[in-house]
Amino acid sequence: MKTVLEPFRIKAIEPFRITTAEERRTLLEQAHHNLFLLRAEDVMIDLLTDSGTGAMSAQQWAAIMTGDESYAGCRSFYELEAVVRELTGYRHVFPVHQGRAAERILFGCLVQKGQAVPNNAHFDTTRANVEYLGAAAVDFVAPQARDLAQPNLWKGDLDVLRLEAWLLRQPKGSVPIGLLTITNNRVGGQPVSMANLRAVSALYRRHGIPFFLDAARFAENAWWIHRLDPDWQDVPLPAVARAMFDLADGCMISAKKDGLVNIGGLLCCNDAHIAQKVRDLLILTEGFPTYGGLAGRDLAALAQGLREVLDPDYLHYREASAHYLASHLQALGVPVVQPNGLHAVYVDARAMLPHLPPEQLPGQALACALYLQGGIRTVEIGTLMFGHPDPATGREVLADHDLVRLCLPRRVYTQSHIDWVVEAFAELVQQRTRIPGLRIVEAAPILRAFTAKLAPVAVPAPVAG
Ligand SMILES: *Cc1c(COP(=O)(O)O)cnc(C)c1O
Repeated sequence: MKTVLEPFRIKAIEPFRITTAEERRTLLEQAHHNLFLLRAEDVMIDLLTDSGTGAMSAQQWAAIMTGDESYAGCRSFYELEAVVRELTGYRHVFPVHQGRAAERILFGCLVQKGQAVPNNAHFDTTRANVEYLGAAAVDFVAPQARDLAQPNLWKGDLDVLRLEAWLLRQPKGSVPIGLLTITNNRVGGQPVSMANLRAVSALYRRHGIPFFLDAARFAENAWWIHRLDPDWQDVPLPAVARAMFDLADGCMISAKKDGLVNIGGLLCCNDAHIAQKVRDLLILTEGFPTYGGLAGRDLAALAQGLREVLDPDYLHYREASAHYLASHLQALGVPVVQPNGLHAVYVDARAMLPHLPPEQLPGQALACALYLQGGIRTVEIGTLMFGHPDPATGREVLADHDLVRLCLPRRVYTQSHIDWVVEAFAELVQQRTRIPGLRIVEAAPILRAFTAKLAPVAVPAPVAG
């Protein structure tokens, strides 16, 4: 069967305003060709991020009503704690307001200036929280992830050989914690294999380094292991997830992804000494340890979200919808990063728009064209986000790639919404040589992508034929 069967019916709807191309042209100009500066109500299909943008189930909304708002020791905490203990096996469970709070608190307990933290690839906020403490965040991306167009398996893996050689060169006691991000967000939401999880765990253990998972998309990683590794095909998904968690000493989770909630996070560990330090810091900035900066109803919705996310029908639908988008784009000749992840499909804009030199920001140019064409909001992952002017020459230092990320919010869009996106691409492919490049008019020195103002470079003449 070719149809993506969403395994749910729709009970509450959220209408969006249908805009005209004319309106969108004005709105994009007012937003200085930066899609972060648009109002969400001026977007029809919002594929900016899968973080906190999912739809909750009827059971989660029911949990919102029955959440316990007591300050200390609320029932909703104990429910969440039981669900998380069963899922992960970790003894100590702390709610936090989102993933980066877990990062700040855990690193605040363990990491000191001059130290280094290894990972397959640090997510932006993870890196920032390590560097804020004066430590180095070191990435060990696997060699199979280098070629974007190759559909290699397990592109999320950590390069164990390089990590091993690197660890031998580090002064004793200078690596306070070892991380592994599942799935590997920075390389396109690619999964980490169980073999790699085991090897990384063994290596950190041999060096006496506490091992924590950055497990925002643990359910999607478990799904890939179940789908792609013959050893795990017949194993129920909760057991696959548990096997991953069992290899580590704890985890940080942004619940805005596979927690299926709009806000929330978790910090879990086995070590009582670490747990004590975490508890003290948590009280200082997040709140009492049984609510961690969240309302009781948020804890209740998260407990229910974690009960739902490993449903094989849900994860099968998630794979089917990502694959549907990726394969239809490929059929149009759009260069798509291979293999596609579950949470997003990435388009190689530099390859799709070869008439634009990378200095003219092909990723941002394509993202703006998609908005004009179909009211679709995506995000550039390229030179606007990661490039910067060379301090000596003032010339732009380019990013390695110029990609456009199409994120898929959980349980929000149906196959017809995705068809709309595919149609917009079909139109753009026809007129791709007329998509204008962009130049930066104004930008902040750090994290410029969020606030930069841009303007189109002169539109090239249409190519005949
Ligand atoms: C989203 C995310 C984070 C940060 O979580 P927030 O909830 O946005 O603070 C950390 N790591 C990974 C892998 C993520 O995807």
